[in-house]
Amino acid sequence: MQALVFDGPGDIHIKEVDKPRISPDEVLIKTGFAAVCGTDLHIMKGSFPAKPGIIMGHEASGTVEAVGENVKHLVPGQQVVNAPYLICGDCLPCRSGRYNVCRYREHLGIDTDGVFAEYYKLPEYAVYPSPDGLSLEEGALVEPAAVGYHAVRRIAPTPSDTVVIIGAGPIGLFALESVVAFGSQRIIVSGHRQRRLELAKRLGAHRVVRPPEEDLRTVVLEETDGNGADIVIEAAGRPDTIAETVSLVRSAGRICLVGIPSQEVRFDFISLVRREVDVLTSDASLLAYERTHELVAKRILDARPLISHVFPFERIIEAIEASQDQDAIKILIRFGEEGDQ
Ligand SMILES: [Zn+2]
Ligand SMILES: [Zn+2]
Repeated sequence: MQALVFDGPGDIHIKEVDKPRISPDEVLIKTGFAAVCGTDLHIMKGSFPAKPGIIMGHEASGTVEAVGENVKHLVPGQQVVNAPYLICGDCLPCRSGRYNVCRYREHLGIDTDGVFAEYYKLPEYAVYPSPDGLSLEEGALVEPAAVGYHAVRRIAPTPSDTVVIIGAGPIGLFALESVVAFGSQRIIVSGHRQRRLELAKRLGAHRVVRPPEEDLRTVVLEETDGNGADIVIEAAGRPDTIAETVSLVRSAGRICLVGIPSQEVRFDFISLVRREVDVLTSDASLLAYERTHELVAKRILDARPLISHVFPFERIIEAIEASQDQDAIKILIRFGEEGDQ
């Protein structure tokens, strides 16, 4: 079968590799659609480390092709999505229900073979049957939707909260849809790419800000009678915007950090302490498929408007590069012929 293999930074190619063989506890999936994540671009450029020789990619949907003899809940032909990581099931975080921070977590497409291939295999626990009405295209976006939703569940906004979301990428946009679902009326989104900000408006942001054209802090103070926001969600993952959250949040307000910076961050801790600001972090997703899958199927978290491009698998390298384009939001990779799925 064909797969996108990472041999080192800048050294990625579509290669002919063996079709995975499943063990008794595993499921073989025929890939329908995969999605390009920011991580894939960073791995390609060498700014995010990955294990050489692995198949890239972690966001996908597909159809069960075969199941091992111990697999209980899945049958061939079922439409499924996959978890983006493997867990041990046995460490303290796993046992306490916080398996998204498993001590032995292995990420697909980073530490272990991923989904940018015609077929991929996973243990049964990491494969989830899709609810009726969910397309394969939408299925490929359940994972980023789950990351946005998990962050918002952690911070749990109420209808009366003013919420600022920094970053209008896929995670910021899914966080926005989640905040809308929680009922918050006043949501300010900041970002750089025009197309994403326009989409943020359509998805329920009451105000969008594009620094440096407008100063985010000035807007937030203006919108909150000088108090600052009740909640600030950082989904850009840049050291400067993470630091900026402190100046945007009100006294006794709350910050949720979901963006992952690639450098050290300097924070005004004194201001946080003196104003009793709560800081929460959110990593990957928890119960993603149990909770988010159906919300995507019901379009409470609508994945469709985030799909900006669809590329055939043969052009996947071009697709990963295109994710940097101004008008790119989420890029899907189609496996098989158009209309095959
Ligand atoms: Zn991702
Ligand atoms: Zn564990």
